[in-house]
Amino acid sequence: ANFIVGLTGGIGSGKTTVANLFAEQGIVLVDADIIAREVVAKGSDGLKQIGDKFGPQMLTPEGTLNRAALREQIFHHPQDREWLNALLHPMIRTRMLERLETATSPYVIMVVPLLFENGLDKLADRTLVVDISPKLQLQRTIERDMVSKEQVQNIINSQSDRQSRLDKADDVIDNQGEIDALQAQVLALHNKYLQLADIKNS
Ligand code: ATP
Repeated sequence: ANFIVGLTGGIGSGKTTVANLFAEQGIVLVDADIIAREVVAKGSDGLKQIGDKFGPQMLTPEGTLNRAALREQIFHHPQDREWLNALLHPMIRTRMLERLETATSPYVIMVVPLLFENGLDKLADRTLVVDISPKLQLQRTIERDMVSKEQVQNIINSQSDRQSRLDKADDVIDNQGEIDALQAQVLALHNKYLQLADIKNS
């Protein structure tokens, strides 16, 4: 596809929920979180490089990434976090570009939690933000995951704030209401994106 919609929103805002509604319309999703897991999957070049740099304790006995060990390592060593980002970000970007290019739907939805923070909005023809209040972010994330309020609040604080995300968005989905209220918003945007993709391709 050569029309890319970058979908983002804070933790627990409803990105996955919204993306799945676009998928129901036949739109291909390219999910940065999934690709970020692929580049460090068992047997991957990314995982091998992490093991070479930080030692074999970065791998579980099964040969998968020991996420807790890696988290600990980069928490204590900021330069190691930078090394890791410098390793993984280009890998993730390349893979995303491959998937975006080969996607066969009229446009493609690229789901990226840190779309603006990581500059991936530059790959997008259009950006779409799923918006809810920080209060609802806390409520829904705590309900979904077994995490404390403090953990979620820390993540919210580490992400770009609600207003700056909204300022950068081309389109916004309001997800403060019931899930049922999403469908109509998604359909309206879907029609708009079909038109915009058509215009770009003509
Ligand atoms: P993350 O950034 O953490 O991956 P996300 O933005 O992908 O989250 P979802 O997982 O789609 O968000 O939604 C967060 C939680 O809120 C899920 O449990 C989802 O089912 C629920 N949820 C989404 N939209 C609504 C809604 N309108 N009303 C109630 N619950 C909702």
